[in-house]
Amino acid sequence: MSGLQFEFAEKMDGHDILHPYREEFYTHSATNQIYLDGNSLGLLNKRSEQAVLELLEAWKTHAIDGWTEGKHPWFTMSEQLGRQMASLVGANSSEVIVSGSTTVNLHQMLATFYKPTAKKHVILSEALSFPTDLYAMQSHIQLHGYQENSSLRLVTSNDGYTLSEDDIIAAMTDDVAIIVLSSVLYRSGQLLDLQKLTTAAHERGILIGFDLCHSIGSVPHELSNWGVDFAFWCTYKHVNGGPGSVAGMYINQKHHHVTPGLRGWFGSDKSVQFDMDASFTKADGAGAFQLGTPHLLSIAPLIGSLAIMEEASIARIREKSIALTSFFIELVDTFPELSSFTVRTPREVHARGGHVLLEHPEAARICKALKAKGIIPDFRQPNGIRFAPVALYNTFTDVHQALTTLAEIMRDKAYEEYENSRGVIA
Ligand SMILES: *Cc1c(COP(=O)(O)O)cnc(C)c1O
Repeated sequence: MSGLQFEFAEKMDGHDILHPYREEFYTHSATNQIYLDGNSLGLLNKRSEQAVLELLEAWKTHAIDGWTEGKHPWFTMSEQLGRQMASLVGANSSEVIVSGSTTVNLHQMLATFYKPTAKKHVILSEALSFPTDLYAMQSHIQLHGYQENSSLRLVTSNDGYTLSEDDIIAAMTDDVAIIVLSSVLYRSGQLLDLQKLTTAAHERGILIGFDLCHSIGSVPHELSNWGVDFAFWCTYKHVNGGPGSVAGMYINQKHHHVTPGLRGWFGSDKSVQFDMDASFTKADGAGAFQLGTPHLLSIAPLIGSLAIMEEASIARIREKSIALTSFFIELVDTFPELSSFTVRTPREVHARGGHVLLEHPEAARICKALKAKGIIPDFRQPNGIRFAPVALYNTFTDVHQALTTLAEIMRDKAYEEYENSRGVIA
């Protein structure tokens, strides 16, 4: 059915300089599984596993002294890893901190930067946003005594999947105080033009920040050069930090004089934190935006994951990721058995993140059939299936195998064996 494409896949894998990193991950290939859900939860790598074991060992042997002793002293780990993470977002090392969660960090950014006035009270976002982001925005509008229906403006999508940057820019009117958007839309995988949006916002005197959950670790950024005001992200998707791993935040250095809206003792200047003074002396950089004691067991995996990313380089990761998603889309277009699927991800390379969304009326049952055959996709209500071929651990032959299997399922109508329940998280 697809001999030529298979040869192409083998050739690409043969030339792939990232190929050796696959061996560092627990890919389940021994049980013939192909994991394509790294945009929900990245796989465990051996360096991260080792880092967690070392953290437990430090606790065992140093107890309280682990804060200042051992290979990775806990007291400065959030700052140290923030500096390492800065290259993933294109920031200066003082502009990034490892802390909190996506949701908490957005709350911190809004508590700090959303200062509504009667004339300028609107938070501008978009209707396809991840719900937790919208809930956070609603909270701050309410906390300031404004109304959601007049102060939260959501740009709508013309096709239900993607957004037009021009529509977003047209909504940047005088009453907008702050803009919060996702870099990559979590369903369709559309990558927005962050530079264009930032320039347009600043021309209109509006602050702008981005949720990088679906781009960090997959797409390079230049937040400092673009002048983005703030950003926040999780680390359990393309950064492979593990379930609930500690998140990150970027605050442009032009805002480092600002007192964080939410204050906690881990945001203190480290030299005076243990003076336990009743008044807050903030740290100099992005570290000021931390709250309480860092969740070190959920930070430790990042020691391994960030080391791998630094070595592999985000530019190479992006290059391979684009080649993988392009190959994926090409196969969907080529296999006649897959003609009933619709590709909802933009086809232009510059407008695409690291995953592909297919739609099919039988998506729920098809996902069950795929899982039964060892292909791990990501079901999205009601008709969507996301596939993320991840540069660090997936191969071109994985993509070929996954789509050949999908084609067989469609040819044999194998999904009809499964129940048509929609409540599944496949
Ligand atoms: C994954 C994701 C989140 C999750 O937020 P948590 O606080 O980590 O649960 C938020 N926003 C976007 C865009 C995401 O993709």
